[in-house]
Amino acid sequence: MHNPAPRAQVSIDLDAIRHNVALLAARAPTAALMAVVKADGYGHGAIPVARAALQGGATALGVASAAEALVLRTAGIGAPLLCWLDLPGTDHRPVLQADVEVGISDLDSLLALAADARQLGVRARVHLKVDTGLNRNGCPAALWPQLVRRAAELPDIDVRAIFSHLACADEPGHRSIDAQAHRFELAHQQALEAGLRPARHLANSAATLTRPDLHFDVVRTGIAIYGCNPVPQQEDLRPAMTFRSAVALVKRVAAGESVSYGHTWTAPRECTLALVPVGYADGVPRGLSGRLRVSLGGAQRHVVGRVCMDQLVVDCGDTTVSPGDPVVLFGRADRGEPTARNWADTLGTIDYEIVTGMYRPRVERVYVGAGQ
Ligand SMILES: *Cc1c(COP(=O)(O)O)cnc(C)c1O
Repeated sequence: MHNPAPRAQVSIDLDAIRHNVALLAARAPTAALMAVVKADGYGHGAIPVARAALQGGATALGVASAAEALVLRTAGIGAPLLCWLDLPGTDHRPVLQADVEVGISDLDSLLALAADARQLGVRARVHLKVDTGLNRNGCPAALWPQLVRRAAELPDIDVRAIFSHLACADEPGHRSIDAQAHRFELAHQQALEAGLRPARHLANSAATLTRPDLHFDVVRTGIAIYGCNPVPQQEDLRPAMTFRSAVALVKRVAAGESVSYGHTWTAPRECTLALVPVGYADGVPRGLSGRLRVSLGGAQRHVVGRVCMDQLVVDCGDTTVSPGDPVVLFGRADRGEPTARNWADTLGTIDYEIVTGMYRPRVERVYVGAGQ
């Protein structure tokens, strides 16, 4: 009996990516859409996601590091592409040669980039990042006038845009959003005074969905293109990732038998247990032990006892299950499956962390969707 179901697999629905991008683009009709595919496309695979996003209506791509940008260029993806975070001293000549735009948050990095560009005989296309209150990446307000002035003077620097990032856009109405928007407006004024005529971008997925007044020239959408909804309101987003396994072994146990390391769960009555060969090494957090359900045999069933490195155990009651039966760890609520969001809520984290954590050497990744 060969050709079993994959032991552990995430399938990525590229139709869902295209659908989500089209939905977001329709919500921001006056802005260009930059699909954010950092962290290997939030764990979905940067290259296939980038291609699907461009098919769905994205006109630009965004990543964190220069190395991530080069991966996309090496794959033959030629769309406008921005990277915005590397260490000082990073050699930007490869990305400049690959026609990648660079996000800059400080004067030293700007000068280093200008030197790299001069050496290559090109102009570096730059998006200057201003910190409007996230207090993470971005140029502090006090240093911004100097940064825009120098950027305007340097012949090797072509400032295409200014941008900033919101701290609380996933809490619509949070007062920091307007405060950041106000500081962004001041930063724009200062850029104009320095002689720049930059495009502007501020909105992440949440602001794209809830703050049309903050769309400006480009929206930078990440999580929503993967079908995870960052805002409280209902949206027609389709989760692109489904995490599957299958039943490896079935056994009947008597009442009073305890299950898995530490014997944290004891069968209250005779029951059927299904062993699923995935565990924390495959992206099922051990912290979900006793708090996790999987979709198996047409219903959601409880995982009992501890989640181990390579396996977990499902209580199937008196239902007939067989080795090889498919199991969905998380997928889509509209198919009755648990979701990455359920995991995140149970763990006290966000679905970003769940899906991004699914890039595991032991988990096969496959792509589905028309055009595949
Ligand atoms: C990650 C990131 C985004 C995307 O944010 P989402 O909440 O995933 O839409 C946008 N802009 C910057 C600067 C980012 O780092």
